[in-house]
Amino acid sequence: MTGRVLVLGGTGEARRMAAALVDRGVDVLSSLAGRVADPLLPPGEVRIGGFGGAEGLAGWLAEGPVRAIVDATHPFAAGMTAAAVEAAAITGIPLLRLQRPGWTAGPGDDWRWVDSLDEAAAAVAGFGSVFVTTGRQGLAAFAGVPGQCLVRSVDPPEPPLPRRATVVLARGPFDVAGERALMRAHGVEVVVTKDSGGSMTAAKLTAARELGVPVVLVRRPPLPPGIPVAATVDAALEWIRSRAI
Ligand code: NAP
Repeated sequence: MTGRVLVLGGTGEARRMAAALVDRGVDVLSSLAGRVADPLLPPGEVRIGGFGGAEGLAGWLAEGPVRAIVDATHPFAAGMTAAAVEAAAITGIPLLRLQRPGWTAGPGDDWRWVDSLDEAAAAVAGFGSVFVTTGRQGLAAFAGVPGQCLVRSVDPPEPPLPRRATVVLARGPFDVAGERALMRAHGVEVVVTKDSGGSMTAAKLTAARELGVPVVLVRRPPLPPGIPVAATVDAALEWIRSRAI
């Protein structure tokens, strides 16, 4: 490959993708939104900050040597994914979506699916102690939840917070023993999560099952139609290789 690969990042997959490309001698530029104060940086070159929507990204791409785009942003970063699809259509640069599969329930799981953070807040309104793991953005949806809320995020969240909030700052990966202990210590009665998928934050689901605690899961936003999708870094590498750019 002679051109540069742009990896739209902010996830573990994106970091692994960048590392694998660097290992193979590919020129890679990872892009981060700049939401996290002290982000985990991938190997290779990194840029931080938005592009200014689809047109901003298309203009930026038109000026540089990028020959392929791998959108490895979080499954809920729908704005960036939509902008990448539009910018790829404008510039003709090939785009791949790298997205890990969502979680699936197993025996003993009590999962309740909802379509939005607002629906999740409504679903937990009757519980006395709620573990909110949906991230710092979108916490406003839980502002009216009457129960005690254990809120976990990487950076300190900004108001509005749930009325009765205890904030725990932590970044995954988390393990089952730690999640079980945390949930026991706070008397957690229900867990709220996005369907992020992957192993970094899945331990809370196992802990919830073991403790008999229900989990409210927010469904992923749909992907734009027609975008090729790879579920693993290996599949994404194969896509890059097959293009022989
Ligand atoms: P979003 O709503 O889809 O994106 C909002 C805006 O942030 C985009 O329009 C873009 O700004 C900028 N942006 C997002 N990702 C970017 C990237 N990789 N490089 C450059 N600019 C980016 O996304 P979000 O939900 O705010 O997520 C932001 C970042 O956090 C993503 O990189 C995502 O992978 C990561 N993340 C998100 C979640 C989540 O639950 N949403 C969880 C973990 C990590 P412009 O329009 O100015 O280009």
